[in-house]
Amino acid sequence: MANRNGTALKYPLLFEPLSIAGLTLRNRVMMGSMHTGLEDRARDYPKLAEYFATRARGGVGLIVTGGLAPNRAGWIAPFAGKLARGGEVARHRLVTDAVHAAGGHIALQILHAGRYGYHPLIVSASATRAPINKFAARALSQRSIESTIEDFVKCAQLAHSAGYDGVEIMGSEGYLINQFLAERTNQRRDAWGGDIVGRARLALEIVKRTRAALGANFLIVFRMSGLDLVEHGGTFEETLWLARALQAAGANMLDTGIGWHEARIPTIGSMVPRAAFSWVTRRIKEAVSIPVIATNRINTPDVAEQLLRDGDADMISMARPLLADPEWANKARDDRPDEINTCIACNQACLDHVFSRQRATCLVNPRAAYETELVLRPVSGAKRIAVVGAGPAGLACSVALAERGHRVSLFEREAEVGGQFRYAREVPGKEEFHEALRYFRVQLQLRKVEVRLKSAANAAQLLTAGFDEIVIASGVIARALRIPGADHSSVISYPQLFGGEKTAGQRVAVIGAGGIGYDVATFLTTEHVSRTASSQQHFLQEWGIDSTGRSAGGLLAARRPPVPRQVTMLQRKDGKFGVTLGATTGWIHRRALQQRGVVTRGGLSYERIDDAGLHIRTEQGMEVLAVDSIIVCAGQESVTDLVGALQDGGQSTHVIGGARLAAEVDAERAIREAVELAARL
Ligand code: NAP
Ligand code: SF4
Repeated sequence: MANRNGTALKYPLLFEPLSIAGLTLRNRVMMGSMHTGLEDRARDYPKLAEYFATRARGGVGLIVTGGLAPNRAGWIAPFAGKLARGGEVARHRLVTDAVHAAGGHIALQILHAGRYGYHPLIVSASATRAPINKFAARALSQRSIESTIEDFVKCAQLAHSAGYDGVEIMGSEGYLINQFLAERTNQRRDAWGGDIVGRARLALEIVKRTRAALGANFLIVFRMSGLDLVEHGGTFEETLWLARALQAAGANMLDTGIGWHEARIPTIGSMVPRAAFSWVTRRIKEAVSIPVIATNRINTPDVAEQLLRDGDADMISMARPLLADPEWANKARDDRPDEINTCIACNQACLDHVFSRQRATCLVNPRAAYETELVLRPVSGAKRIAVVGAGPAGLACSVALAERGHRVSLFEREAEVGGQFRYAREVPGKEEFHEALRYFRVQLQLRKVEVRLKSAANAAQLLTAGFDEIVIASGVIARALRIPGADHSSVISYPQLFGGEKTAGQRVAVIGAGGIGYDVATFLTTEHVSRTASSQQHFLQEWGIDSTGRSAGGLLAARRPPVPRQVTMLQRKDGKFGVTLGATTGWIHRRALQQRGVVTRGGLSYERIDDAGLHIRTEQGMEVLAVDSIIVCAGQESVTDLVGALQDGGQSTHVIGGARLAAEVDAERAIREAVELAARL
């Protein structure tokens, strides 16, 4: 098989077509379901259509939409997207027509949230309340179960009439069907509970009746939970029984789900090794003869191809990686993997947004789900533009400006591009930042950006060079402590630590508990293991995941990892630690550090530093923390030294990212500001 350049495919298995349910999918790349928020309102469907069409043009084999409820009780939140009436079909036509016109295939995901719905109408197998929900669910009566099944079937029929190629029935992640499947949430004594045959009846009836209603040429994917990761979850034996029963009931493909939303084990965060759960898919695949789909932390074509080669899966589902780069599949097919804008698994702009009911987008690609609004149009008259600073803002701005056709010179005072990203990549579990930097380096070269490293641009030089526009993206510097002894040899700034300029001793105090304080504490308490099979083993052990398949829910006792240092994290304010961390990842960082014995102390002030250690004042009085090293993670200050002189010189100047505002700057804001500016210039 050859790519469009006529050379042999680098990833032949990934680009092997798959014939199924009367369809020929062009390859094994599936865009997994991910809610963006655009599904919820009819007026947003033109945006949703362009979002999916962009991915279809990008070469994806099969797209699965974000979850749509089959009825109101199944809403994930009040007025969330549902497909229950004929009047709701027309908007979906926009989506299916756009995807088909781009040569793609698309299935609608039917998701009944059950007790995860965030509203008072919620129902479940039994009357229970999820630990992550303030609303309690009432138990469905036998009659309501029948009508719920009818609603699933009707939703699939409406999807068919809207032009979808199939449906994915959401039976994992702890949603309604999964709630029926697990003893944890199904305490029924009737024919819909009891042993696995009773608990699986809802899942199997939905598949059987959908198949009967829609015939053989309609794709039915069932997303089943391969591993619940909660107490009283399914056993592996039950999972395999279910897989076979779903095949017999008429499912065409099985997608793998890992972990309920209430599980306290990370399943997609950046600390999860790539393809960490492919062994789960492999076991399901061994039980059935229909194609099985692998998910979770697969973000590069090399990993995807390897899973297919190893026989772990027949298709690879990726949701976030296709937000990060809609051209992922085309780039992989054409042997250009280095050009892929790789998802760094941060969750910051996608799931954290969904969680706070904002539209999902992507930290490394702010155009995701804004395809019709944030457009990089080619320019007719190219300008000469200088960008000062090659951190995330400067890099993103340079690449986007060059993409539009401007001539860009990028000035960076250091010997390497990356800014704060150079520190992030050193944090265990954040190795994906290497990929982000690789992407930018490749794009700078491809788009012919003139990169001047070790060039501390000065205002006079910039003014005489006669640039049409200057973008100041000079970022931030770490805030220094301003107390007596701040220059003591035990004091280390976080750039010095991550940059390898200084090393911490055995007993360490970390000043500041923002995102960087947590990163530093993780760095200090991790024994460095490379991302190999051993790191996967290490991850499974640290989080207590049973890969033998013996325990219900796949849980074991977590094993505390070897910790090389004693770390105390400090903040001046009283109250909870880590409140500024991401909504969907903060708990993981807090729990990981707790497991490593990191002590947190707040409600104090820093008085001085000397040979005895760090002197602090608390409500109880003065105290000395006898530590060998003090790492300062006290936030940042903007670097804006060029701005005044450039503006005084009459130069058209734009300030973005941390240079514009250091407080709470993060890469998401920096990159978004950069691309928005590039779209305007
Ligand atoms: P930050 O979130 O602003 O935290 C700074 C910390 O320093 C606070 O805990 C603050 O707590 C303390 N502090 C502030 N001024 C101080 C002073 N003069 N002396 C001593 N302590 C002081 O900043 P950051 O941790 O450097 O993070 C920067 C940005 O990057 C943030 O927006 C953050 O969200 C983002 N980031 C995110 C992640 C992530 O995983 N999502 C990771 C890294 C960074 P007190 O005032 O209570 O002492
Ligand atoms: Fe991936 Fe982060 Fe983008 Fe989400 S925001 S798609 S996790 S890079």
